[in-house]
Amino acid sequence: MPSRIHTLRVDSVVLRHSDWGEADRLLTIFSREQGKLRCVAKGARKLLSRKAGHLEPFTRVALLLAKGKDLWIVTQAETVEAWLPIKEDLTRTATAAYVVELLDRFTYEEGENQHLFQLLVDSLGRIATAPDLFLPVRYYEIHLLDILGFKPELFQCVKCRDEIKPENQYFSFLLGGVLCPRHGPGAEGARPVSMLALKYLRHLQRSTYTVALKADPPAITRYEMESLLNHYITFLLERGLNTPDFLRKIKN
Ligand SMILES: [Zn+2]
Repeated sequence: MPSRIHTLRVDSVVLRHSDWGEADRLLTIFSREQGKLRCVAKGARKLLSRKAGHLEPFTRVALLLAKGKDLWIVTQAETVEAWLPIKEDLTRTATAAYVVELLDRFTYEEGENQHLFQLLVDSLGRIATAPDLFLPVRYYEIHLLDILGFKPELFQCVKCRDEIKPENQYFSFLLGGVLCPRHGPGAEGARPVSMLALKYLRHLQRSTYTVALKADPPAITRYEMESLLNHYITFLLERGLNTPDFLRKIKN
């Protein structure tokens, strides 16, 4: 952080918190202005603390931060959006926890990323209200990958660059995209993907959310889409492909 900045006003979402010392709370937030930040809320665990209620995970909160010795210190907090249905429903809580954890694991304190902030806010809003959470979460995953520089290639074979035809294909975690039936079988880290699952994944990738919502994949295809995205995400995280060094390399 530049040394001349002593206070900072941020629009942010609380990702997680933990106890800090006797009465304080350490927060990890994702802000519109500065991306991921860690800050301390002093006295937040004291009974009747006016700040405490604003600083729960999955809350959008406007904060005034003051520069401390090592960390930012929360001096004012005001809830912008509490997303109460997320806190009142176990399935929604677990889903929001997954969304927030993915963001947390894929990002470092590397500064502003407005697209990521907007995707997070939009997704939490959808998780709070959507009757069915399948599409909001898949949409989040696929667009998160896109923003982070891991957009899966779904339109061309990642080996021969031929356009993918409407037939069953393979997906390579290693190469980050689809392999045609000529190059898929036996390729390392590749698995089959059905024509239908691919069709819906493409639809999510290139559509606005409103348009994406019109998709209604059958249960077996939903399972396949979820499994493919989860495996790809796990692959990226386990390979350490989300580290700042690696990300800088692929951006350059
Ligand atoms: Zn090919």
